[in-house]
Parts: sequence; C-alpha cells; structure tokens
Amino acid sequence: MTDYHKYMVSQAPIETELVIPVLCSKCNSFDMTSECLRHDSHNDTILIKVRSLPWSLMRQKLSLAMAFSDDGQYHYDVDTYNRECLKYMIVEAPWGKTDDVFLSQIDVNLGSALELLVPRPSSSPATAVSPDIIKKG
Ligand SMILES: [Zn+2]
Repeated sequence: MTDYHKYMVSQAPIETELVIPVLCSKCNSFDMTSECLRHDSHNDTILIKVRSLPWSLMRQKLSLAMAFSDDGQYHYDVDTYNRECLKYMIVEAPWGKTDDVFLSQIDVNLGSALELLVPRPSSSPATAVSPDIIKKG
C-alpha cells in the first residue's frame, strides 16, 4: 500500500527565490545573446517564503474566481484566481503583506514571476468543467 503521507500538503513556509527578468543594464536589452549571458545582469532575485496550497483551498480560490458573465456564460477569472492564491501562499516577502493593493501595483515582470508560483487549476481531475474550455470573460 502507498503511504498516504506523500499526499499531505505541508503548511511550513518554503524559502523560494523569485527570478524576475530585467533589462540588461549593460546592453540595455532583454535579448539573451551569448555575449549578454556573460553580463549576468538580466535577472533580479527576491527571496520570499511560500506555503503550498492544499487541494481544498485551491478549490475555494477557484470558486471565488468563477462567475457568470453578462452573456450567461460561466467563466473563470485568471486574475482573481492568481491574486487569491498568492495572498494565501506568500507568507513572507520584502514588501510586507501581499494584498490586493500590492498586487494591483506591481509590473508585468514581477507579476509574471509571481504567477509561476500559482498551481494551475486545470490539472485537477475533479474539475467538473475544465477552466481550459471555459471561455474567458
Ligand atoms: Zn547584456
């Protein structure tokens, strides 16, 4: 028999390094040419502490992000889902509390790096309607 413990989600925060792509300060571009790779200046890193999202909470966050649009379609709001997950998952960060105010002010680079932390709900076999096939509003 399989040990079920491997399916238990630890709530202990895990130190995680956020890698944020930035404009190379030496050649002023995002391009990773072989010369630019030697500059070692296209990534910023920020150390944060993150806890895993248990299944039940993931379902809750997903429910929060489901809504009927004006045309009566059920849709899944990626932004709401990402924000709700990040607010729970990030327990320690240099910016203090991760809340809607903070998340509404960050740029695309940091936002994209944070988004990678969020588990994709579509991988859940229990999802009655896969978010992949739900039209975005
Ligand atoms: Zn460069």
